[in-house]
Amino acid sequence: MQNMLSLVSPDDVLLEINLGAIQANFRTISALVGPHVRVAAVIKSDAYGLGLVEIARALIDAGCDLFFVANLNEALLLRSSHVVAAVAVFCDQFARYGRCYRSNDLTPVVNNCAELDAISAEGETQTYFLNVETGFSRLGLAFVDVRRRYLSGTFESYPPSVVLSHLACGECVADVTNVLQRNRFQAIYNLLKPIRGSLAASSGVWLGKSYHFDMVRVGSALYGLNDAGIQPNPLQPVARLRAKILDVRNVPRREAVGYGATFRTVRASRVAIAAIGYRHGLPWSSANKISVRIAGHSAPLIGKISMEYITIDVTDVPEAHCGPGAFVELLGGDFTVGDLAAAAGVIPQEVLTRLGAACTRQYLNSPSPSAVSVSRPFNAGARSR
Ligand SMILES: *Cc1c(COP(=O)(O)O)cnc(C)c1O
Repeated sequence: MQNMLSLVSPDDVLLEINLGAIQANFRTISALVGPHVRVAAVIKSDAYGLGLVEIARALIDAGCDLFFVANLNEALLLRSSHVVAAVAVFCDQFARYGRCYRSNDLTPVVNNCAELDAISAEGETQTYFLNVETGFSRLGLAFVDVRRRYLSGTFESYPPSVVLSHLACGECVADVTNVLQRNRFQAIYNLLKPIRGSLAASSGVWLGKSYHFDMVRVGSALYGLNDAGIQPNPLQPVARLRAKILDVRNVPRREAVGYGATFRTVRASRVAIAAIGYRHGLPWSSANKISVRIAGHSAPLIGKISMEYITIDVTDVPEAHCGPGAFVELLGGDFTVGDLAAAAGVIPQEVLTRLGAACTRQYLNSPSPSAVSVSRPFNAGARSR
């Protein structure tokens, strides 16, 4: 009979998440914006794939007291996991689920007039955040509606506690869009006089004080993603990715490797087959472009990435280090999620959310009693080869 330990035995693909690094990044941002600016953590999309509840707990330990989630499901998962900190829901559906907001002490982010009507129907006791449109054209009250509702007295009767907006080009310091959005936001801020204004997400933090207002909403930076390319990088990398070698084979010179025969050996080679593929979130477009680390040696990925496998040229790695059962490192050390995303031609957020959703996650420096804990993402399928 299998015992419980088998449930936490290492899988063949491990995404190791350093909670201490996430806490350090929170402190770095907090120090940067100073004591008068609140740092709210964005943990939407299962904390960018890293684990909603685990990340929330780690950030609470680091002093975070406000979280933004994508939807009501995520908010309720936090509450059922006994996370009592303030939680705001980006896509609120307040009109439909108002009672759920009240009984779980959740804060809706109001994005349009219909939702604003639902808030005013609740009476003055309902706390809410107001999202306003300043040049991003996604969610948020249009300026004409802000004006109309201001003139009709809605905001005087039902003042939002936070007014927020989102920058389109925050990672590009020189982009004039930032100034334009900032000026529009400043005008609305002056008009509505909320307790707090919030314009900047991660990249906006580096645009300077005039973008911070009273609160910043950071996701990416907490998870070590340096979208704005700040040098030297003040953020710590958070994720390490490893996969197990399943087999090693000798391949003669001038033989094709993998689908489409995109790689052909130039010498008699040893090729390791490791247990990670695009279904684990490894970008298919990184084929023939990245290397892995094996016991301090670098070894290139060769051939296409399969659904469940990659092939690696280990001819130059001592055999003792790369037999079946050994692990290769795909993310870690100097090679970050940002580097992998750049090689693949995608954005780091996409890489992170996909890896996190598919790989077994291990937590380092967990504030809970055990130093390492393991969680499976909600939608992890059974492994198959
Ligand atoms: C996702 C999101 C954030 C966080 O953005 P990062 O760039 O990851 O810090 C902040 N605000 C809104 C409205 C968002 O949708």
